[in-house]
Parts: sequence; structure tokens; C-alpha cells
Amino acid sequence: MDRILPATRSRNMSRIRSQGNLTTEKRLRAYLVREGVRGWKLHSSIVIGNPDFIFPKRQVAIFVDGCFWHGCPRCGHMPKSNRRYWSQKLNRNQRRDRIVSRKLRKIGWMVIRLWEHQVRLSPAVAVAKIEAVARKHRAGIMY
Ligand SMILES: [Zn+2]
Repeated sequence: MDRILPATRSRNMSRIRSQGNLTTEKRLRAYLVREGVRGWKLHSSIVIGNPDFIFPKRQVAIFVDGCFWHGCPRCGHMPKSNRRYWSQKLNRNQRRDRIVSRKLRKIGWMVIRLWEHQVRLSPAVAVAKIEAVARKHRAGIMY
């Protein structure tokens, strides 16, 4: 039921997605470096949900959620065609986000979710938030 879109359209969409994320992520990464925030690393595939950044010792996971793909209430918009397809897809993504966050918290991780627009518009605020949380959170003993 997922495959209503023609293959080319689908491909274009995934290209948009990866490009968007990459840019936002790069920007955040540059800010973390510039602000001298340490102890993080990129993309840990060993952590549930593949967070964009993690602080492994502190068990802090950071997700930068693309505004479109994760249904940002501020800037997410529903495409006019295939409305049903898109609303189901975006709902599924949001549900998955919630499940991932819950699972991580259950095993002692602190989860920070940032919208793509927050990083784009006010990266300094995003970094300050990350830093504050990462400094406070101590790795749990819940394993
Ligand atoms: Zn947004």
C-alpha cells in the first residue's frame, strides 16, 4: 500500500530527504565543533533509532528531525497530491519517533529531538540546549 508513487518520484523524495538532513546535520556539527563541545560522535548505528549524534559516555542521543518527514507542526506541510499516502506515512514516522524515544529512555538514555528548522534558524540555541543536557545527564545504571 506504500507504493503508490512512481519510482522516479520516490527516488527524488529520498534524495531530498538525505540532502536536507545532511545539510542540517553538517551545520549542527560545525557549531558543536566551533563551540568546543566534546564527547559526541556522529551516527551511531549501534544505538536504537540511529541518532544523528550521541554522547556515548553520557548516554545522550540527539535526533535532528526533518520538518517534512517528521511532520513538524510549524513548517511541515502535506503535499496536495496523494494526501492519504502522505498522511499515513508521516503519522507512521511520528509514531516510530515516539517509540524510539521511549525505548531509549527506558534503558537510561536522555533523548533530545530537535527540529530541522530549529537548527537552521537558531543553531546557537540548539547547541546550548545540547550542551546543557549533555553536561547534566549521567549515564544510567539501568542496563
Ligand atoms: Zn519545522
